[in-house]
Amino acid sequence: MEKSQMSSNNNASLSKTLEGKVAVITGSTSGIGLGIAQGFARAGINVMINGFADQSVIDEILLDLRSCGVKAQYHGADMSKPAQIRDLIAQTVKEFGALDILVNNAGIQKVSPIDEFPDDAWQAIVDINLSSSFHTTKAALPIMREAGWGRVINVASAHGLVASPFKSAYVAAKHGVMGLTKTTALECAEQNITCNAICPGYVMTPLVEKQVTDTAQARGISEEQVKTDVMLKAQWTKKFVEVEELAETALFLCSNGAQNITGTNINVDGGWTAA
Ligand code: NAD
Repeated sequence: MEKSQMSSNNNASLSKTLEGKVAVITGSTSGIGLGIAQGFARAGINVMINGFADQSVIDEILLDLRSCGVKAQYHGADMSKPAQIRDLIAQTVKEFGALDILVNNAGIQKVSPIDEFPDDAWQAIVDINLSSSFHTTKAALPIMREAGWGRVINVASAHGLVASPFKSAYVAAKHGVMGLTKTTALECAEQNITCNAICPGYVMTPLVEKQVTDTAQARGISEEQVKTDVMLKAQWTKKFVEVEELAETALFLCSNGAQNITGTNINVDGGWTAA
């Protein structure tokens, strides 16, 4: 067989192995999580979506996902509530009969100097951006172990590796996610379960649109200056990352080709953390 034909057969079989898998994606009613849910559905993966949105928006998302020929359901667990998180995992198994892939993506942001940082905002960011991943992973691992296969993907951030001023809670939580990623990977290493982080740079989602306004206020500059002089200054490609790129990265981490990639991070940040 020609070498190129062998390689294309391998690619086809890699994507085939993901067909029919079941994924939970937290915070997938918008932005990166929604992009990953759409990418997964196109690859034949059944998806349980989660997050906050009007019922009409949720219905529209589910319709779109189901049009790919996969099963799609919604669970409204609040990622700051451990009991609701446990119910999300339990309901997924009840409705789909499996849970193969967990994408910990839900997150919020608050931009403020430390000495003015509201205590409740600190707690909410740590709960939603970090502790929720502990609770989902804790509930999902026994199911993956039983099945003998699993993928845990934590959507961290370039801020899991480097800091920026005025984002104390976010940077602290995302650095925590990196530690959780490594520990999870080691505990599951012999069980065909991998755990990795994706560290995006700036992606123009609702979370970042709000940050543009807040950062302009915190730094006393215009919103356009925030985009060019703060956000894209760090991104050497001078481009915002697209959600579709992150969906592709997540799919790669789920593939057999990534079975020995664990406890590490893939930075999709236009060179930000290379400098
Ligand atoms: P987004 O605001 O578009 O989406 C966030 C999602 O999380 C939404 O579905 C929202 O409903 C959900 N959510 C928020 N609070 C929740 C809660 N308590 N319980 C359940 N769901 C909740 O934001 P995004 O930019 O797509 O961010 C997604 C992830 O990517 C976050 O973890 C964020 O930190 C990370 N990230 C984003 C960027 C970026 O530039 N946008 C960069 C790096 C990392």
